[in-house]
Amino acid sequence: MTTTARTLVIIGAGFAGLCMAIKLKAAGIDDFVVLEAGAGVGGTWRDNTYPGCACDVPSHLYSFSFERRAAWSRKYSGQAEILEYLERCADKYRLRPHLRLNTRAEALRWDAAAGRWWVRTSEGVELSARIVVAGVGGLRVPEIPTIPGRERFSGATFHSARWDHGYALAGKRVAVIGTGASAIQFVPQIADKVAQLSLFQRTPPWILPKPDRAFTGVEKRIFAAAPGIERVYRASIYAQMEATALGFLRFPKILKAAEWLARRHIAAQIEDPALRAAVTPSFAIGCKRILISNDYYPALTRPNVEVVTDPVASIEEAAVVTRSGRRVAVDAIIYGTGFAVRDFLAPMTVVGRDGQELREAWRGGAEAFYGLAVAGFPNFFMIVGPNTGLGHNSMVVMIEAQVRYIRRCVQRILKEGLTALEVLPARQRAFNEGLRGRMRRTVWKSGCQSWYLDDQGENYTLWPGYTWEFVLRTRRPRAADFAAA
Ligand code: NAP
Repeated sequence: MTTTARTLVIIGAGFAGLCMAIKLKAAGIDDFVVLEAGAGVGGTWRDNTYPGCACDVPSHLYSFSFERRAAWSRKYSGQAEILEYLERCADKYRLRPHLRLNTRAEALRWDAAAGRWWVRTSEGVELSARIVVAGVGGLRVPEIPTIPGRERFSGATFHSARWDHGYALAGKRVAVIGTGASAIQFVPQIADKVAQLSLFQRTPPWILPKPDRAFTGVEKRIFAAAPGIERVYRASIYAQMEATALGFLRFPKILKAAEWLARRHIAAQIEDPALRAAVTPSFAIGCKRILISNDYYPALTRPNVEVVTDPVASIEEAAVVTRSGRRVAVDAIIYGTGFAVRDFLAPMTVVGRDGQELREAWRGGAEAFYGLAVAGFPNFFMIVGPNTGLGHNSMVVMIEAQVRYIRRCVQRILKEGLTALEVLPARQRAFNEGLRGRMRRTVWKSGCQSWYLDDQGENYTLWPGYTWEFVLRTRRPRAADFAAA
């Protein structure tokens, strides 16, 4: 096993890891590597290539504030365009020499005597670094439910985040399991190609119209020629999205207007009363992620598409069997069943001070300080860690705020020659008590089941506040929150 010493190791080359690398370089810190398990940069935008994959946050906001793009082709860009944007960032900011692709960080171990982290990678290399920043993303590990008989299925089967482009869906009988953000994007794209599509729906999502359109050439030229106008446009999207937080956080009744719109959307796009009833949710809007689409409901009205609400009970060699005993014969099963989100950094192991394992520290719930530092784990930072996800705005805003905070911590460690900078347990506890208190009033706790919540119904994924508030509160690390040695 070879060993290399670095000042800093970044894990992940998605929006978070790239942003960290860019900002470190801008601060004159160059001695770092970016470990990336995949074959390229882009993170979720490299992994998810399913037909119709796009972002449901407008691109002018779902992009770095310091790397504006006037040429976005449409309001809600597709996956390929977002990936190309991130590739270009990697080139422009000269990050390629720092990248170690196809290299998974498998285990991190804090060496208190040396004041360094040991990072074991899948390549059999042991790196040592003074500081580690994990930007591995929350929606990373595909979740395939353990349905009895699943392994007996002899047809094609894949998850939406690992789309099998080599499999020709044309003319096939296809089962899709799941009706979340991913499924509602790819179902309309494949519905007119397959012979029969059986969509197994456990819970219908709330869906609003998608105010999408291509930008005209004139608009793109204006954005390019007058960056001020693009900035105002970005700010207006931000303000609109941020305003919805009031409904999510404090006054779920405000969301009634959105529910009314969503019901109208169903009525306008679906004539059949039985199908209308089947796709109408019974939980409060906003409790699960609100989705946007103009082509999902029309796809469901096609004669070759059936929404199956009878729960999936088992899978056989060539069929999906429902609880009432119905056998739906299929050639392929596509899982649109989301991601394993609760084990934030898994399967990577992180062993901190006194041999403590992060997974153990989080047994009672994944608590951190602003989602980016954990007591007992010196010189270790996360981007998009616990309670920093959003239900209402652009994650890039949160990522930039966390990166700025971490960059300042890194600068302090280097400037003051610290061996260990660690958030104080009491500060972390107080922070989380405040967070839990606020969480109680949110719509996410209004009684639905979602990936936002753990088995105890506790929310360790979302930030229960406004993004401007997170940005302001993380402007500068406070010395009193940390123990420094
Ligand atoms: P998801 O929202 O978690 O949806 C998973 C779906 O699978 C749900 O409909 C769920 O039903 C269903 N399901 C899970 N296990 C099942 C089982 N055993 N039997 C039947 N159905 C089952 O996953 P996703 O669609 O991949 O999206 C995950 C997240 O990724 C989103 O919330 C969003 O944050 C992000 N995303 C974003 C975009 C975007 O436009 N920006 C696009 C795609 C994904 P239940 O609802 O009953 O649990």
